[in-house]
Amino acid sequence: MLREAWMRSARAIATFAIAVVCLFATNALVRTPRATVSADDIAARAHKLHFSSYVIDTHDDTTQRFLSKSSFDLGKRYTDGSIDIPRMREGGMNGIFFSIWIDGKTMGPEAIRQALDQIDLVRTNVAKYPNDIVLCRTSEEVRRAHAENKIAALMGVEGGHMIGNDIHIVNIFADLGVRYMTLSHFYNTEWSDSSTDKPVHNGLTDFGKEVVREMNRDGIMVDISHVSDKTFYDALEVSKAPLIASHSSCRAICDHVRDMSDDMIKALAAKGGVIQINYEKSFIDQTYKDAYAKATGGVVQHLDELKKKCGDDGECFEREMKKAEEQLIAEGKLPHVTWEKVVEHIDHAVKLVGADHVGLGSDFDGANMPEGLEDASKLPIITEALMRKGYSDADIRKILGENTLRVMAAAEKVSTEMKAQNP
Ligand SMILES: [Zn+2]
Repeated sequence: MLREAWMRSARAIATFAIAVVCLFATNALVRTPRATVSADDIAARAHKLHFSSYVIDTHDDTTQRFLSKSSFDLGKRYTDGSIDIPRMREGGMNGIFFSIWIDGKTMGPEAIRQALDQIDLVRTNVAKYPNDIVLCRTSEEVRRAHAENKIAALMGVEGGHMIGNDIHIVNIFADLGVRYMTLSHFYNTEWSDSSTDKPVHNGLTDFGKEVVREMNRDGIMVDISHVSDKTFYDALEVSKAPLIASHSSCRAICDHVRDMSDDMIKALAAKGGVIQINYEKSFIDQTYKDAYAKATGGVVQHLDELKKKCGDDGECFEREMKKAEEQLIAEGKLPHVTWEKVVEHIDHAVKLVGADHVGLGSDFDGANMPEGLEDASKLPIITEALMRKGYSDADIRKILGENTLRVMAAAEKVSTEMKAQNP
């Protein structure tokens, strides 16, 4: 309730502010028409640029909704959650990586079985709307989907535990259309350390390095979100293709192990990789992260508890996550975090390594989103903010999606070369 009251007063303040701005704008129009035309011009230019760009999000947990809600319909507009075709269309989001995720404690054949089940769910749900969304395996297929005004659906496996320690499963995932794999999730796998677990392997084991090479061979991008810093540096050394962090932000702004330090971002970029900025409030705002940790023991632990409580029921997870956060806000234990924080992370990474190495990895449908970026329909706000900061059209296009396509193409090239050398 408190949140609603806050929203109401925020809306009232916003209406007043708009009225004041309009008044000044009218005066400005008389005195300095150029300035006003320029401001309007940016909004119009940003809109045009956004809706003609590849806008690709490398991490969305919407698959969990397919799992739990047999009635969840990708083609229907919902008021809860963040992703459905109507809201993707409204926000110009034309590329999405559906995450394949199961709890990191599930191992072996059961982990493989559940992962395959989720891959099948993504494929069948996407197949229901052939005029709107199409499963893509290559950067070229994404470009073709865009040319046909269709959303490109891709898949990423979030956690190496889902190969069940069997390297051939990497090949099967590749055949089924998986285009990245996160080496570990909240827990260590038997061959890679996680950032949120106690390190036991000192990064990647020899088998872990073999998995990375096999992913290179199959054109599956190596994702280092969630892994320990040492696992990241090991993967960076072993991989022949550039890496991605599918959903991580900048530690320099918010000191969280799930984020990347400036040194890591520089090392990632030096080998052609991309950091895809995560919108989760605990990963982007230090005050929120500290307050959340104080109230719950930390976002990773808390989400893990909720996932345990709800099991495979993604709807339950989302409901419980929202409920817990609303309660903490109502109790005054959490500060408000707004969408501008995401732009701050993008800008930090761009200043550090340039616009060629930054992208978008929201974590929609799996995390707490900042105000103003609650769902896919809100994405144009990022483009406009970057344009107002003076970013060039070309740089904005890279951040929105071109960088992701470039890394995909690089992974495909490495795969072709490796297969030619050793068929
Ligand atoms: Zn994640």
